[in-house]
Amino acid sequence: TKWVYAFGGGDSEGEAGMRELLGGKGANLAEMAKLGLPVPPGFTITTEVCTAYYENDHAYPADLEAQVEASLAKLEATVGKKFGDPANPLLVSVRSGARASMPGMMDTVLNLGLNDETAEGLAKLSGDRRFAYDSYRRFIQMYSDVVLGVDHAVFEDILDGFKDDNDYSLDTELSADDWVHMVAEYKKAAARELGRDFPADPREQLWGAIGAVFGSWMTERAKTYRRLHDIPASWGTAVNVQAMVFGNMGETSATGVAFTRDPSTGDTGYYGEFLVNAQGEDVVAGIRTPQCLTEAMREKMGDDNPSMETAMPESFAELARVFDKLERHYRDMQDIEFTVEAGRLWMLQTRNGKRTAKAALKIAVDMASEGLITTDEAVMRVDPAQLDQLLHPTLDPEGERDVLTTGLPASPGAACGKVVFDSDEAEERRKAGEKVILVRIETSPEDIHGMHAAEGIITARGGMTSHAAVVARGMGRPCVSGAGQIKIDYANRQFAVGRRIIKDGETVTIDGATGQVLYGEAKMIKPELTGDFAKLMTWADTHRRMKVRTNAETPADCQTAVDFGAEGIGLCRTEHMFFEADRIAAVREMILSNDQDGRVTALDKILPMQREDFKEIFRIMGERPCTIRLLDPPLHEFLPHSEEDVVDVAKATGLPADQLLARARDLAESNPMLGHRGCRLGITYPEIYEMQARAIFEAQVAVEKETGFQPLAEVMIPLVATAAELSILKARVAGVAKAVAEETGGKPKYLIGTMIELPRAALRAGDIARDAEFFSFGTNDLTQTTFGLSRDDAGKFLNDYLEAGIFEKDPFVSLDRDGVGDLVRIAVERGRAEREGLKLGICGEHGGDPNSIDFCEEVGLDYVSCSPYRVPIARLAAAQARL
Ligand code: PEP
Ligand code: MG
Repeated sequence: TKWVYAFGGGDSEGEAGMRELLGGKGANLAEMAKLGLPVPPGFTITTEVCTAYYENDHAYPADLEAQVEASLAKLEATVGKKFGDPANPLLVSVRSGARASMPGMMDTVLNLGLNDETAEGLAKLSGDRRFAYDSYRRFIQMYSDVVLGVDHAVFEDILDGFKDDNDYSLDTELSADDWVHMVAEYKKAAARELGRDFPADPREQLWGAIGAVFGSWMTERAKTYRRLHDIPASWGTAVNVQAMVFGNMGETSATGVAFTRDPSTGDTGYYGEFLVNAQGEDVVAGIRTPQCLTEAMREKMGDDNPSMETAMPESFAELARVFDKLERHYRDMQDIEFTVEAGRLWMLQTRNGKRTAKAALKIAVDMASEGLITTDEAVMRVDPAQLDQLLHPTLDPEGERDVLTTGLPASPGAACGKVVFDSDEAEERRKAGEKVILVRIETSPEDIHGMHAAEGIITARGGMTSHAAVVARGMGRPCVSGAGQIKIDYANRQFAVGRRIIKDGETVTIDGATGQVLYGEAKMIKPELTGDFAKLMTWADTHRRMKVRTNAETPADCQTAVDFGAEGIGLCRTEHMFFEADRIAAVREMILSNDQDGRVTALDKILPMQREDFKEIFRIMGERPCTIRLLDPPLHEFLPHSEEDVVDVAKATGLPADQLLARARDLAESNPMLGHRGCRLGITYPEIYEMQARAIFEAQVAVEKETGFQPLAEVMIPLVATAAELSILKARVAGVAKAVAEETGGKPKYLIGTMIELPRAALRAGDIARDAEFFSFGTNDLTQTTFGLSRDDAGKFLNDYLEAGIFEKDPFVSLDRDGVGDLVRIAVERGRAEREGLKLGICGEHGGDPNSIDFCEEVGLDYVSCSPYRVPIARLAAAQARL
């Protein structure tokens, strides 16, 4: 097997299409080298080695070493230097590179190959002793940290102490001799921490670093990131070994990261940051605040430091040419790392850049207008799930703002929550139901879980490409970075801005679009779907076959959904209406009644209220179809349970407490979800369903009289297992419709159908379709009943199943295509075979999940239905499912 692929020096063994084997970074380095761009040569150890390593108890394939040696020899020949040669040393970087980019998750070692002899050699060769020892100390620190597990703070403390003793404030003030001294101190510290000398043999260093990259694939933070982003552990990472180029060789050297368009807004124009006389990690780590790449960006940010465009005009011009070439070649916005070594430009990485939802929309629409991509491609370019970011409230521009400070607008959106200073705590408090804003001096990969748990993130240090900014944008969390006026005091759990002190637990709001940090809870407004969003949705809608409906029962939700483009209601859960304060008493009275007459008396009180509910909904929905589900949950859900609650309810309603309690006990079930619920209630208490049906039909007639349009009701009988249940209840509902028509002289337009949420119903869909005019797949219950897995309790152990790889994804979130999907497929076939034109939809949570929507398209459903805020997501996903 070929385990190692070379790139650079005018040719490459790999290319962009080999991302699975070479990882994203390795594949794109190979591609750039092929395109003739200046890429330092190197080689990639494949992801298959990583997989083999974990399959074989952390052992490498037998012939790997020989292949690495051969590639190293080739690399030496290409650059004309030798690894470990004191006279002419080759130094390399060792970086990870997974198939899907995992920013900040995997480790990097720079300047590898340095020891006392080669450092001296590098000093002579470069004529710059200061540079050589600066590189050497960086190497010791980074290698100790990443490969040997020595905390980098050990070295930072030594450096800080030395700077204090010498009255230095910046690293740049240290002389060559100072760095030589630092190197000696660092080596001592490393030896002390390790209990042995820091490894001087370059080959030992190299294999140590390769092992560390493979090892980092299974760290907790990498696992967390993979879990959050659905990346399988089986993919593995590649290792890239590449000749070093140096951005820290003085004032004509620099290093930077850039995007070919603004990753926050999508605006055209290069966007990025650089640092003069620095090495790669300095920019990302947020240790020094970098300078802007372009003049336009500098002006926008109000930065006083010169941009790269003015400070290094020639390198910048070359960089701009490379940017354009890469964007045209990849036909997408690129995220690029580069280094300028003594005036010469080198490309270290390119990849399709991560972007906010707003930027994704703008870039897709712009690129389609520029003719770089087609409108179909534009539709495919936007991740539907990401649209979520745009569908939530933003700060009201008119609202009052108590601005504490302004940092960098690192990731857009508004967020409000209580201040927390620690990532573990953020996670705990989130679990306890609190909304938190994570406040850190800077973030590192150890903070991923805290950032995910937080509503938003504030950092005191770091630029627009700092870890916090990149990760927050990727996660869709609003973030303000580099809020330099904030002084964080971790020990006392507070931060100060000027003379104001904000303590742990106090509420702040951040505006990721402006970089503002506000005290308290600021006013927010509903988003509008205009501009690029509207345009892309129009393109998407031309491809969409399935309709998109919403699950809603309140007028506000119905209106939101219609504004987002909902084409009907797929599920109106009427039980929510029973909990309303003005009728819960009558509902309880009905449940407590000993006989049908008593129940009917109570139901008569509920009827007018329920009729009003439906009238409001029909007015909003117009002639769009509305699926209204008759009562579904077990009756005891409406009764108080604890003795305390019973006393309260008795007082409030005048119902006798002992009767309430007795009835609640009476109705209690061991398995309520498999108990007396759904259509089973309708069989036992037909008067309940008849009241609901009457409310629906009377509302239809009334609204038709009032408005002139004709509401369309789809009356849905839940939890049917047999054809007989449906035919009995259908006859009752149809009887009510007839009666209402006679009484009112109106003619309600309706269908009667059922939910398919039990395996038996799916299997017997043929029988059931004799009476059902539509099916709606209730995939929440269908998942529960197919797996025999409780919706309400699975959360407690689901993670174990995900971690053990038993479930790839939570089946309640993403439809299990194999099992539950098979039942859906069977029901579709058998149902349609019995009744041509049977209307089919889905109303479980899966109706808003892009991957499940793709499945719904595949099996030919007529519509999906989801919560109002997911309607645009479903519209886009349904379009993508057709492309
Ligand atoms: C379902 O079971 O999928 C469904 C939509 O109904 P509910 O969630 O109300 O049980
Ligand atoms: Mg259900």
